[in-house]
Amino acid sequence: MRNEWRDDAIRRSDAIDQLIYQARIIGQEDSLVLWGGGNTSFKFIEHDFNGKSVRVMCVKGSGSDMKATTRRDFPAVRLDDLIPLFDRDDLSDDVMVECVMRALVDPSSPRPSIETLLHAFVPFDAVLHTHADALLTVMNTRGREATVRNCFGDDMLTVPYRRPGFLLSKETGLAIRANPNARGLLLMNHGLVTWGDTPKQAYDRHIELVTQAEEYVNRNWSIAIRQSEFIDRQPTIANRPSFAEKISPLLRGALGKERRVVIRFDDGDGVMNFLQHPDAKMLVESGAATPDHTLYTKRNAAWADIRPLIERNASAEEIANEIRNSIHAFALRDNDFFDANRDSLNLSQDDLRFVSHIPRVILAPGIGMWTVGKDARAAKIASDVFHHTISIMLGANALGGYASLSQKDALDIEYWPMELYRLSLQPAERELSRRVALVTGAANGIGKAVALRLAKEGAHVIVADIDLTSAQAVADEIVAANGIDRAIAIRMNVTDEASVLSAFAQSCLAYGGVDIVVSNAGIARTSSITDLTLDEWNASLSVNATGHFLVAREAMRVMKSQGTGGSIVFNATKNVTAPGKDFGAYSASKAAEAQLCRVVAIEGGEYGIRANMVNPDAIFNTNLWTDQIRQSRAKAAGIDVGQLEAHYAKRNLLQTKVTAEDVAEAIFWLASDRSSKTTGAMIPIDGGLRESFPR
Ligand code: ZN
Repeated sequence: MRNEWRDDAIRRSDAIDQLIYQARIIGQEDSLVLWGGGNTSFKFIEHDFNGKSVRVMCVKGSGSDMKATTRRDFPAVRLDDLIPLFDRDDLSDDVMVECVMRALVDPSSPRPSIETLLHAFVPFDAVLHTHADALLTVMNTRGREATVRNCFGDDMLTVPYRRPGFLLSKETGLAIRANPNARGLLLMNHGLVTWGDTPKQAYDRHIELVTQAEEYVNRNWSIAIRQSEFIDRQPTIANRPSFAEKISPLLRGALGKERRVVIRFDDGDGVMNFLQHPDAKMLVESGAATPDHTLYTKRNAAWADIRPLIERNASAEEIANEIRNSIHAFALRDNDFFDANRDSLNLSQDDLRFVSHIPRVILAPGIGMWTVGKDARAAKIASDVFHHTISIMLGANALGGYASLSQKDALDIEYWPMELYRLSLQPAERELSRRVALVTGAANGIGKAVALRLAKEGAHVIVADIDLTSAQAVADEIVAANGIDRAIAIRMNVTDEASVLSAFAQSCLAYGGVDIVVSNAGIARTSSITDLTLDEWNASLSVNATGHFLVAREAMRVMKSQGTGGSIVFNATKNVTAPGKDFGAYSASKAAEAQLCRVVAIEGGEYGIRANMVNPDAIFNTNLWTDQIRQSRAKAAGIDVGQLEAHYAKRNLLQTKVTAEDVAEAIFWLASDRSSKTTGAMIPIDGGLRESFPR
């Protein structure tokens, strides 16, 4: 591993600047730390508000991400308050956290890392701790102590596995105090600790040890790869994505019977090579590598043995059934193990809400991997972490055998009260969280307003539009406001069957399916019947009738596969109930859409699939109002184009201007469970037009 330290990259040379710089270059390397893992500290003399000099330690705050740290992420604690704790025999987690909080120099600082005492007890100024893959590979081997000696000789200290807390901190402190000249210390099945007089020294030693471990693993791994060239590799399904897109909604439904989940499919080389390995199943059944890995991916991944089905060319449905059986078996096993050990976990009644027996990683050799989360971010983290697990498993296997964290130790981490407390502090989920919404024509106007509105309520949004560039801009806006992977942009032409099928397939691979579909894309052509060309008539029917049919058909297919209901909202028009002069093609094609919506409601009812429509009128901030339409409407009303918006506002009962955001509000209501008893309905959003009252 390359040493990235550049002295001239640090602006000032104050202690915290060095620490921030070190944390950032560590955080950029994801084979050292993942998603907020790892921590670092520096001890120095500071002057308090009385001008008195105090010895403090700045340590990374709990949960902050190394690569994005700022000064605020390094709360300072008074060492005189913490060092005396070293003489205690034991300290519960609660008391330890309380002591650390009381030692804060600034009580309003973020909560310091759970590993603060470990840093405090090391008798050196700079301490760095990561969960480096290469070291975890060396440690997660059968006969781990011997492997560590083989790799590093005798100048590496080790502390047997123990859950983070006071005792692990004390044992670390004792080991380093007894051997201050050791090169580093390994917390078995957990991570690496190095120290020095400055953050640079701790960093240099860290990189040196990681490099040595990498070289040791690579040497052994390449021998193992050469030996495995002749082994029997698992077969793979030829047309994997088309199977995966059919299987994903079935899995998402099976996993989300009680609470919906988002799932993510991955059949990249890293996953497929692992799944083809003859030892893959044995490795997966062994368990997770470290406490950190356990928290993101659970103790084990679910393994679905579908090799016999692939060999006899079984259908996607049969394969999905087999995977569902594996998930069911996983949940039963997980439940049994939890029940057998629950007394030792000391969970409160309130903690029980965090108990879950569904897998976070599902491996189906021949197809790929699904990862599961409450949202796309959690599913992505599980995927990233499992990729690292794969490299640790295969590396350790090549070093003589992978030996994971024990099942009991992993369960203790999964339901560790400190971790459950952290989960309980997370903000409440939003109304549409865990849901996936596909909006057509979402690049601008009403579609864009709807996409933003649903995302604001917590939904993952597929921004579908024929104009991919503008759709991407909307998706980017959603991601910037709501977080990573919250939206994807897809090019979709609603009149093209293949394009509609492909958009839904992409949704199934990215999120596992859909819960809300807003069929919004439409066009408006004006012409008297006598002047209307056949081309214009056909184009209108193609987008405003056939387009809605193709979208609704795929939506129903995916929703039926999931078996968790759904809501389809059609954007129709006031012209359905009150057609206008020169709007023959528009009104007739939109009437077809309205009847389609009702039939979807009739056929979807038994599956919990609701279908409703909104009838907006005179929404000027959309692409529908082309210059040509503005001019023709102004002419029909006998006014100037400039007066058009005011004219429309005046003609409704509320004498008000209606906007795309008003339509989005009604669509949100229909998409959400707030309208769970409503289907087949039509809601005008037109400021009140007597002639278009639904009849
Ligand atoms: Zn750690």
